[in-house]
Amino acid sequence: CGVFGVFADPNAASHTALGLHALQHRGQEAAGIVTFDGTQFHSVKGPGHVSENFKSETVISQLVGSSAIGHVRYSTTGGAVMRNIQPLFAEFAFGGLAIAHNGNLTNAMTLRERLVQRGCLFQSTSDTEVIVHLIAISICSSVEDRIIDALRQVQGAYSIVALTNNALIGVRDPMGIRPLVLGQLDGAYIFASETCALDIIGADYIRDVEPGELIIITGKEVRSLRPFPQTPSHFCVFEYIYFARPDSIVEERSVYEVRKAIGRELARESAVEADVVVPVPDSGVPSALGYAAEAGLPFEYGIIRNHYVGRTFIQPTDKTRNLGVKRKHNPNRSQLEGKRVILVDDSIVRGTTSTKIVEMVRQAGAREVHMRISSPPTAYPCFYGIDTPEREKLLAANYSVEDMAKLLGVDSLAFVSLDGLYRAAGVESRNAERPQFCDACFSGHYPVPNQDRAQKSHPL
Ligand code: SF4
Ligand code: MG
Repeated sequence: CGVFGVFADPNAASHTALGLHALQHRGQEAAGIVTFDGTQFHSVKGPGHVSENFKSETVISQLVGSSAIGHVRYSTTGGAVMRNIQPLFAEFAFGGLAIAHNGNLTNAMTLRERLVQRGCLFQSTSDTEVIVHLIAISICSSVEDRIIDALRQVQGAYSIVALTNNALIGVRDPMGIRPLVLGQLDGAYIFASETCALDIIGADYIRDVEPGELIIITGKEVRSLRPFPQTPSHFCVFEYIYFARPDSIVEERSVYEVRKAIGRELARESAVEADVVVPVPDSGVPSALGYAAEAGLPFEYGIIRNHYVGRTFIQPTDKTRNLGVKRKHNPNRSQLEGKRVILVDDSIVRGTTSTKIVEMVRQAGAREVHMRISSPPTAYPCFYGIDTPEREKLLAANYSVEDMAKLLGVDSLAFVSLDGLYRAAGVESRNAERPQFCDACFSGHYPVPNQDRAQKSHPL
């Protein structure tokens, strides 16, 4: 998901809509904005893209007020139903509260059962609503303290923006798994998942919200709190590989540069004789550029992407996902025929994309196909907000690299190593005991235990 928030901005709603538009890659299922005008909250949300939900001045003009938060949704827990669309909003004894969450809690079901037993009436199936109820039943008096009280009970990944009657709050979980940055535009403070959302409205990037930091903005004042016990941070390395936009600066590193560097590592680790380096667009492009530069081979667009189709991955069912691949890519015969092709993509999850792409490239006359992947094999599910499937559906969980190569029908297949990935992300060597990033989907080393899984009674 993607989140955005702005305080004391005369154009709060339109800036939020633009910010969400820049974060559209983080979730395409639904979008929503909640504003506050000093007396009342206003909310517009719906399924589909930002541009579909906020296409007219009329819609924006309903969103009165100088503070706003917004959300683009990519469903991990909770399914794709209307009730789950964020920001969630509730009226409490202390006033209203809107909340937008990126990430996934790992003890939401456990907490939810407890809350339901206490009489809480849940309206959605999203893990975020657990936080809302925890805030409601907190015995703390101030809103900030209630939020802190609630967040101390949840586990997992969260980058949250919340809007109250007098403050905008931004907070990142103690491990800092998902990104969140602080920016400023003409004195108004802004929170956003990525810097590309600041760029689009001409705002300045100030700094990242730090792991475990809670920032409260009330007018010109910015207060920073550290309400959680200190733990080592574990930023999601997959944000660098795939999820974040290449023009974003994440945790002080350019996503584009990291992707190129992964390509260079790959070229060093698994060189092969070939004529051309071809990316699987768009996600494979920066790594393919790095690969080609390092290998001294030409980079060509051997596959052309139809830009009117969204990311194939972020779709709730297998059926739409499969159709997506065909609608999205077409081989560019002029660059493939008779060539030994190195195909570069960012990841193999189920293997659906790669199988189709390889078939396509062969049919277009490629003599050899060598697949290079700018992530290690995805062998474990993600519990922190990226919708990787169960282990059974992950190709790398079930097959060796050689077997995968056969299944995909390629002449060779190689993945970047974990160490190569860390080097590309600017970390000299991966600490095996306590990895500097979250890399659980590649290593199985989960930085936060999954309480919901451990307690088998839960359906999710
Ligand atoms: Fe990111 Fe993978 Fe960790 Fe999920 S498991 S947070 S995708 S690195
Ligand atoms: Mg891709």
